[in-house]
Amino acid sequence: NIVFEAKGLKKSYDGGHVLALRGVDLQIREGEFVAITGPSGCGKSTLLQLLGSFVTPTEGSLTFRGKSIPDMKDASHYRSHDIGFVFQAFHLLPTFTVLENVQIPMFEGGLTVAQRTDRAKELLTSVGLGHRLTHFPSELSGGERQRVAIARGLANGPSVVLADEPTGNLDSENAKQILELLMKLHSERKVTLTLVTHDPSIAEMAGRTIRMKDGRVVSDGTSESSISLS
Ligand code: ADP
Ligand code: ADP
Repeated sequence: NIVFEAKGLKKSYDGGHVLALRGVDLQIREGEFVAITGPSGCGKSTLLQLLGSFVTPTEGSLTFRGKSIPDMKDASHYRSHDIGFVFQAFHLLPTFTVLENVQIPMFEGGLTVAQRTDRAKELLTSVGLGHRLTHFPSELSGGERQRVAIARGLANGPSVVLADEPTGNLDSENAKQILELLMKLHSERKVTLTLVTHDPSIAEMAGRTIRMKDGRVVSDGTSESSISLS
């Protein structure tokens, strides 16, 4: 049960002047908690954005559950149902309430207004924000905003969550809470969690750490048995 598989995955920007990924091979299996780590500019975000179909590969293949990841422009269902994506900068819509923000990905799903509202309330309660439903994002702390974003990412019950530096904009106390929340999702909802971080202490909490450097994977393994590829 392989969730993601990349073979010879390459990504360049600016007509080939920037080689962000120089040939990545990897598999991510159902139920794993994988941390992707490495220095700034090594290609972590690019890899995650490829998994989320926010950018298109330059070369190589990339599959989700055995099928090619849909092309960027056809990926809206994939992005709202198959995966949940959590960004560093939250990306909430400022003129909508917390409750509305969480419902946005549900509009394509054929639910009634009442079903959407109930589901959004349930998700917000599960991230500890049942008392903030009618607040606007600007009225929340950073940690609370990220919890809204996580609830939104879970709107359609994805089996996979991709998180790009989800604690990067938070102080250490809020970062800890967000991390605990993600780990709870992983263990209770059996969500396959792939998280990009440059923070070694976060990477340590994952069952598996993929280390990147200069657009390549240089090591991949559990903390006990790391396979060095460099
Ligand atoms: P990381 O997440 O590890 O910091 P990124 O994947 O963001 O690395 O970036 C990898 C390389 O690709 C860097 O050299 C970065 O400057 C470049 N890059 C990333 N996104 C773009 C883009 N949209 N256009 C041009 N270059 C980019
Ligand atoms: P933190 O200490 O976690 O960074 P803040 O000091 O920003 O949090 O906020 C503390 C509490 O006050 C939070 O629960 C937040 O929801 C609430 N809050 C912050 N700013 C506003 C605001 N402009 N309007 C209403 N509530 C707010």
